[in-house]
Amino acid sequence: MEHRRLFPNDEDERKNYFDTFGTRVKKGKTKTKNWKIKKEVVEKTNGRQNAKEETSDIHHHHHYYYYYSRRRRRRTMFLNVLLLLLVLLGGTGKASSSSSSCSYQSGCNRPKQRFASSTLGNHDDDDVSITFRQTPNFPATMRDSVEKGVELAQSFLGKVSDVDVFMYEAQNASAQNPSAYEEINGLWCEATRDEVHGYCNDGAGNQEKAMNGENNVFASGKMTCAPCGEPAKKSTPIVITPGLDSSGEYYEHDTDWLIQGAIHEYSHAFQTLFGAHTPAWLMEGGAVQLEAVFSNHASRGTYRKTYEDHFKHTIFPAAIDLYGDTSVATWLTTYGSDRECENDIPPGGVNANPDVFYNVGAAAVAFAIYKANINHAADGGRTFADFWTNTEKHKGFWHSIVVDDYEFNIDTDWPSQVPEGTGWKGALANFTGHDSVAAFYADFEAWIKPGGVLKTPEEMSDILENSSDVDALSVEPFNNANSFMPRSCEASGGPPSSFFGVSSSATHSRFSLVVVVVSSCLVATLAL
Ligand SMILES: [Zn+2]
Repeated sequence: MEHRRLFPNDEDERKNYFDTFGTRVKKGKTKTKNWKIKKEVVEKTNGRQNAKEETSDIHHHHHYYYYYSRRRRRRTMFLNVLLLLLVLLGGTGKASSSSSSCSYQSGCNRPKQRFASSTLGNHDDDDVSITFRQTPNFPATMRDSVEKGVELAQSFLGKVSDVDVFMYEAQNASAQNPSAYEEINGLWCEATRDEVHGYCNDGAGNQEKAMNGENNVFASGKMTCAPCGEPAKKSTPIVITPGLDSSGEYYEHDTDWLIQGAIHEYSHAFQTLFGAHTPAWLMEGGAVQLEAVFSNHASRGTYRKTYEDHFKHTIFPAAIDLYGDTSVATWLTTYGSDRECENDIPPGGVNANPDVFYNVGAAAVAFAIYKANINHAADGGRTFADFWTNTEKHKGFWHSIVVDDYEFNIDTDWPSQVPEGTGWKGALANFTGHDSVAAFYADFEAWIKPGGVLKTPEEMSDILENSSDVDALSVEPFNNANSFMPRSCEASGGPPSSFFGVSSSATHSRFSLVVVVVSSCLVATLAL
């Protein structure tokens, strides 16, 4: 069976693919919007000259790098339909058996599956462990940082199962040794192997970045076919490569920075437990906000930053920069939710400056918490800890997302198209106390630029929770006796009773999902 690379082979394509800060620029396709700004961010972030300013800018690459060729998909579709016909003609009920369905996943950065098969445990749940892998010369001090970051996030958010961290050493151009990556590449391939289709990522992209001394930190995802017959996210493989400076050495500040990088990526593993139709600004802005939450624990000496400092000196100035670009008045409303993926362009048009996801997103998360605290004052108010970890319905955000209460076409719809009042939109509006997400966006934009005049970082800081309160809450370990995985499809009613039962009781999108899906696992089975 062919093992398709999940990443583009073409160097430029791959570079763009990995490049969080530069929107991909396709050959023969001009994209000028904001390119200048993005290029500067790229240089700054790749070079990381500006260590005191960098934290939330430096990271981070996308999630969900599923890269499938369209031709391959068509061919598989054909086989699928053929097999489906065979099944139907045979008149068997086997199409509904638990092993017979699973969606074909496509797209890289636009997660489509509703469910996760990974689980969330209490901070002291000994059954859940994280695997750490490293190349032979990954520095021990940096490994300590990565482990510390994971530990901080894990204690606060809870233990997400099936998280694997891959630490690739960077190599100086004058001392390259490709064999250092052989073992980890093999492990990376198995960690990313899609259980429905058998594809894996061979790690060549990770190796190339590492050998070029480039910074490379991202979370990927591995798909499985869940027992209920829907595709589900199974595990979260994370890559960490601290890049080298111009003299070919690791940055002195990397030991601090990697703590935040690990917190950021672990938070993605957590977020995807709660449904995959979550908008980009909540994914990235949430992860950046969590970096800020731990910034006082994750920094030392002259780099030490409190929660308020982190917002005031890093997040808010970047958000102000973006809103200072008057070519778009409503950055969050227009571009916040959907992130371009391969050839898929979001409904609003081309993708925007990624700062809208990261820094505007983090500012919007802080604003959501601020509003929630005011609007639920009679009920004790709300904190960032509620936003992340409150398991009581509608008291927090993440644990209150219901992913199976709306129609969503997994082939064509985007997070922005989740209907108001349902899914992430319902959870967010309930949390903040707004009538709708649209109303929340409008409120945020009126706040950041009242009467068309931008606030200063100082003024924006009025909404922030007190740094010492944040410090104290952030080290409260997650401990919910009833902790379970509420969004697993097992919890949503179990396997479909029959093929036609599903199609008649579900939406058109569900129907087409089932058609494709039913046979995908069959293909996989036959291939074995
Ligand atoms: Zn991220």
